Amino acid sequence: MPLVSMRQLLDEAAKGGYGVGAFNVNDMEQIQAIMGAAKETNSPVIIQASRGARAFAQDRYLFHLILAAAELNPEIPIAMHQDHGNSFETCKSAIELGYTSVMMDGSLKDDGKTPSTFEENVEVTRKVVEFAHPLGVTVEGEIGVLGGVEDGHGAGGTGLEHITDPDQAVEFAERTGVDALAIAIGTSHGAYKFTKKPDGSVLKMDVLIAIHKRLPNTHLVMHGSSSVPKDLQDVINEYGGKLKETWGVPVEEIQLGIRNGVRKVNADTDNRLAMTGAIRKVLWTQPEKFDPRDYMKPAREAMQKVVAQRMTQFGQAGHAGDYAPIPISEIAKGYADGSLTTQPLVAAK
Ligand SMILES: [Zn+2]
Repeated sequence: MPLVSMRQLLDEAAKGGYGVGAFNVNDMEQIQAIMGAAKETNSPVIIQASRGARAFAQDRYLFHLILAAAELNPEIPIAMHQDHGNSFETCKSAIELGYTSVMMDGSLKDDGKTPSTFEENVEVTRKVVEFAHPLGVTVEGEIGVLGGVEDGHGAGGTGLEHITDPDQAVEFAERTGVDALAIAIGTSHGAYKFTKKPDGSVLKMDVLIAIHKRLPNTHLVMHGSSSVPKDLQDVINEYGGKLKETWGVPVEEIQLGIRNGVRKVNADTDNRLAMTGAIRKVLWTQPEKFDPRDYMKPAREAMQKVVAQRMTQFGQAGHAGDYAPIPISEIAKGYADGSLTTQPLVAAK
């Protein structure tokens, strides 16, 4: 299947009442793990690359690896997404490369660290939408600031310092025309999200629910949504690792989000943990091994297992064959003639 618009993927998810995992990639094995899981569970999927990933793998390598995934899996809808674009230029370069979706994270200035003002965020996000939509490319924005740091991107902190204000979310969606909106409800990037098991009082699910009520047709995005399961931490520590005890976002909270308008769920840390644990186990228990395939194959299998589990939990499993891909050029026409409106239907308070 050709790469599809993330907008189409998320519109379908809204129709079906499920969420779609957006998994980060840096190399071939991660792409293969995701596609193995998508095939196994018959799931549409979002494959995303951060700026760090694009620099690590080099743009052309990564782009062609993802294209290969699309060629080899014609039955799976795949959106290729730029994760956390820090500037108009980053998003433009992804679009020119062939990405079908970009995130403009205008919640931070282009250093990827300093929180920006609301007006700065609106301005840069609007500019990306004006460039992307005529080309049929989907845009995700962010309002509020997530905690933690990943790939050198992030404001740090706990994630509870800049919770999204529902009124601002509505104004932001109206003024920018984004297709999807990342909101800050207390999640943060990386492995060290919470120092105890988070309950309903830690994650601001009430804020998420309030935003969805006001913006029923804007696809919400949960970032920093790895669950950081203890068994994956244990494998790493059992074979010489030194992870400190930590908790992620419980899957039940993500599922509550999905019942309230969350359509894209970003998860990276769990996959990193799964791969690292598998590699450590081989190197620790079979120190005579030196062929990278001896540890990359179990690493790829470990990641595929976690991704398949998430696809089932998010509800996207079984939905790959629900629809035919709409060419990106047709999506562009939809934005132009207003049939793919990005003016949110705002519900009363
Ligand atoms: Zn993120």
